[in-house]
Amino acid sequence: MPQYDFDLFTIGAGSGGVASSRRAGAYGARVAICEEDRVGGTCVLRGCVPKKLLVYGAHFRHDFEDAAGFGWSVPEPKHDWKKLQVAKDKELDRLNGVYKRLLRDAGVQLIEGRGRIVDAHTVEVAGKQYTAAHILVSTGSRPFLPEHPGIEHVITSDGALNLKELPRRIIIVGGGYIAVEFAGIFNALGAKVTVLIRGDTVLRGFDDDVRAFLTQELRKKGIDIRSEVFVRDIEKRSDGTLSVLTRMGDTPEADAVMFATGRVPNTQGLGLEEVGVKLDARSAVVVDEGSRTSVESIYAVGDVTDRLNLTPVAIAEGRALSETLFNNNPVKMDHTGVPSAVFSQPPVGTVGLTELEARELHGEVDVYASSFRPMKHTLSGREERSMMKVIVERSSGRVLGFHMVGADAPEIVQGLAVALKCGVTKKQLDSTVGIHPTAAEEFVTLRDKRPDPGAQMAQELGQDAAKK
Ligand code: NDP
Repeated sequence: MPQYDFDLFTIGAGSGGVASSRRAGAYGARVAICEEDRVGGTCVLRGCVPKKLLVYGAHFRHDFEDAAGFGWSVPEPKHDWKKLQVAKDKELDRLNGVYKRLLRDAGVQLIEGRGRIVDAHTVEVAGKQYTAAHILVSTGSRPFLPEHPGIEHVITSDGALNLKELPRRIIIVGGGYIAVEFAGIFNALGAKVTVLIRGDTVLRGFDDDVRAFLTQELRKKGIDIRSEVFVRDIEKRSDGTLSVLTRMGDTPEADAVMFATGRVPNTQGLGLEEVGVKLDARSAVVVDEGSRTSVESIYAVGDVTDRLNLTPVAIAEGRALSETLFNNNPVKMDHTGVPSAVFSQPPVGTVGLTELEARELHGEVDVYASSFRPMKHTLSGREERSMMKVIVERSSGRVLGFHMVGADAPEIVQGLAVALKCGVTKKQLDSTVGIHPTAAEEFVTLRDKRPDPGAQMAQELGQDAAKK
């Protein structure tokens, strides 16, 4: 048995790498982790955490407005962007310290610098080589920018989180998670927000009703969502104004342009292909269900593998790996039934299949859906509505998907995700007593099935035939 410096050498101290390393350390493995930036990764430093803090900060605007309907007189609220930035950065510093301490407490050695794989058991950091029985690649992803003339003038979510000033007008290109979350933040803080999307609705990949409903709600909040827009180039004028030239010839203008056009795996310059680690067409590391790459001693977890790019998934993949390698407890990560949320305003919570996926995979399905005005807004006067949707396999009555747009959707759907994992049926939902008055009770009181699209079409065709 060859002697190595470490049992596990992890490259990248983000959510997946830290979780895996700590778990391995807890089982007595000798672990090192290298990181070229601060400890914490995208989620803690440039993603979920700072984004959610900004969402909280921005949402007060809506709360102040809503308060009037309940008898409050709120003077015109003023927001200090710099103050929010300072508070957010202080929290990130604290978290960075917490992560470092967690690694130390688990006996994981932190090595500062960029790691490069030299061979199947060797990693080089800052000119020094370290050997390990297992190497874990957890280097995450970074924003993707398409090639357009003037692309150097735009910011990505990294820049948007650290803007010195709040832009008066901002154009956001893209309609995914990041675009709608930042559109909500800047809109609530008072910027004029224009979102340019290539399709008709935001959030491709989500249930079509969720997409249409959220697009409508965002527009109601004053966000200018322009559909079927294709960007050609970006120009910067001498006064700093940016204009986006589209294929249709429109030229919307703003003080900042943000591209939220997806993310790409961080696989460059790591020596992966040189040592035989296979990458796919998007340059993601190809792994098996145990997160093992094409090289036996090298593993990868998280966004760098481009499976389900969510922090809790990276953490679960990382922990499953350490259970398997260091606790003699083979665990395979289950990528089904993973819930997710979009912290737009209003937010989205979803778990399981979309209606389209359910029809494709399970044939006949029953759909229960409802849209309503939340009780709070009967007094606030806000026109915001919520929607919920449950998709059920007709033959078994098993729920295949829960979807919600509305206040607290992420909190509500987390609980429903447990039920979905346990194989909850519509009958069991019906026999569950609701908590009144809540929005969540709607999920256990939905009664009316939507007409089957096939039956509806047949009925409409019948009516047309009768008219002739
Ligand atoms: P997404 O993949 O969610 O969305 C990308 C968007 O950019 C789509 O609307 C897409 O349009 C558009 N787009 C792609 N290429 C171009 C182009 N060349 N020109 C114009 N538009 C383009 O990516 P995000 O960047 O929003 O987020 C990346 C990932 O980060 C997510 O998939 C998610 O896994 C994770 N994330 C999760 C969050 C959460 O859990 N709350 C929050 C933020 C990020 P089209 O639909 O037309 O292809």
